[in-house]
Amino acid sequence: MSASPIHDIFVIGGGINGCGIARDAVGRGFSVFLAEMNDLASGTSSGSTKLIHGGLRYLEFYEFRLVREALMERETLWKNAPHIIWPMRFVLPYAKGLRPAWLIRLGLFLYDHIGGRKLLPATKTLDMANDPAGKPLKPLFRKAFEYSDGWVNDARLVALNARDAADRGATIRTRTKVISARREGELWTVRLENTQTGDTEEVKARLLVNAAGPWVDHVLSATVGLNDVHNVRLVQGSHIVISKKFDDPRAYFFQNKDGRIIFAIPYEEEFTLIGTTDQDFSGDPHDVKISDAEIDYLCAAASEYFAQPVKRPDIVWTYSAVRPLYDDGASKAQEATRDYVLKTDGGDGTAPIINTFGGKITTYRRLSESMLEKIEGFLGKRGKPWTANAPLPGGDFPASGFDAEVAKLKTAYPFLDARLARRLTRLYGTRARMLLGLARSNADLGRNFGADLYEAEVRYLVQNEWAMTAEDVLWRRTKRGLQLSREQAAALDEFMRGISRRHVAAAE
Ligand SMILES: Cc1cc2nc3c(=O)[nH]c(=O)nc-3n(C[C@H](O)[C@H](O)[C@H](O)COP(=O)(O)OP(=O)(O)OC[C@H]3O[C@@H](n4cnc5c(N)ncnc54)[C@H](O)[C@@H]3O)c2cc1C
Repeated sequence: MSASPIHDIFVIGGGINGCGIARDAVGRGFSVFLAEMNDLASGTSSGSTKLIHGGLRYLEFYEFRLVREALMERETLWKNAPHIIWPMRFVLPYAKGLRPAWLIRLGLFLYDHIGGRKLLPATKTLDMANDPAGKPLKPLFRKAFEYSDGWVNDARLVALNARDAADRGATIRTRTKVISARREGELWTVRLENTQTGDTEEVKARLLVNAAGPWVDHVLSATVGLNDVHNVRLVQGSHIVISKKFDDPRAYFFQNKDGRIIFAIPYEEEFTLIGTTDQDFSGDPHDVKISDAEIDYLCAAASEYFAQPVKRPDIVWTYSAVRPLYDDGASKAQEATRDYVLKTDGGDGTAPIINTFGGKITTYRRLSESMLEKIEGFLGKRGKPWTANAPLPGGDFPASGFDAEVAKLKTAYPFLDARLARRLTRLYGTRARMLLGLARSNADLGRNFGADLYEAEVRYLVQNEWAMTAEDVLWRRTKRGLQLSREQAAALDEFMRGISRRHVAAAE
């Protein structure tokens, strides 16, 4: 029997940071093994507000480095993944008694000028009596500012980074928990458990990356056995989704009386997404759940602005996640830094570990580059930074060419209705053709599980994107969960159990 190979890098965690680091590293020539204990993006990375943004609010806490880096990333990420990332305009109503207009103008001036904006339009002032953005709001909001940021399908960004990493040679294992990692001289021996079968195995690596998000301190202490356990502050954030509250494609940025802000964002064609909250969290991040107080807070905050109040019965879905913020000792959760910090341990004859704390979806690519700098400090240089100009899978079309891409797909597959062609292009970009293959009619796409979720799409997700359960498909690879009934979801679950079993049988 041949000995298992020694990997250069072992990454713990299949969220945006782990998958971004794995992709960058394998693209530079390192051998990489990544383990995710659940599904890709099942932690914080599918529970964000989904903004590629500088973070206007962070300017109030003098986070100029973070805001500048994040602003610069807006156009870089859009260019490399124009199917799942796109520009969005935000309307910030001026509210008497809250932040003065001059302060907002100053913030937006900085926003427009420090972030290398080339394609995104600049800030402007709106007269809400005459602008359609004023229509769904109370008439007392007479003036507003409109500025640019970006939107991202967060869970798909993770899956596409994982896909690209695997295409370049990385090993990506989901439902695989790292149960221990121990140093043996210059190597790590990492013990893994398949969470579905209970089988265990060992993998050796030269360097360990701990990208376990809100579990990062737990992994450091319980899994790796190091005595450095208070690096992150866990802060819960929740969102509510309601039926479409307005038709405008722009999102709203609402200031609240407590100094916080919330967004109301057009979501999945037929809905409005409202969030988020900030409250300290303790316990297992997988158990995070919206509280009654958060629901009341979000309904009340949005109702301060919308002419028609937002009420509990309007809510069709909620989600919550835990921010793993670097603990900088700030007194309030909303004031804790959103910047990232990388901390190393070992080297000089002992196998190194690099831990990542904090960060944003927006800055994951830059975090990965900083991580690679540190990795190369230990393992030697292999390649140059390369991800700034490398499309993610399906993103190889011009940033402003989304509509043209939908039209091309419709021409190649004339039987697709316009909505489905648009949805498939939004999720898979140019790879929608891989999914559709030789199909010449809807019937060729196999069973329709509801809301135009066909068997061909489900099979594509199982074969190419590590989807194993109905939940993976309905709530992370797609958001068809918003459309399917409980019975339809159960039928998909049954179907997926069948194909997962066949996959296991085929692999054995
Ligand atoms: C409410 C909210 C709103 C946000 N909004 C935005 C936004 O609009 N824009 C933005 O840029 N950022 C936003 N963020 C921040 C962003 O979502 C996070 O910074 C980012 O998702 C963190 O990614 P991560 O990879 O570090 O963690 P995660 O996504 O949590 O990934 C860590 C992974 O590690 C796995 N893991 C843990 N332990 C083990 C183990 N022992 N073995 C194997 N795997 C393990 C977990 O299962 C998990 O999947 C928001 C965050 C929250 C909570």
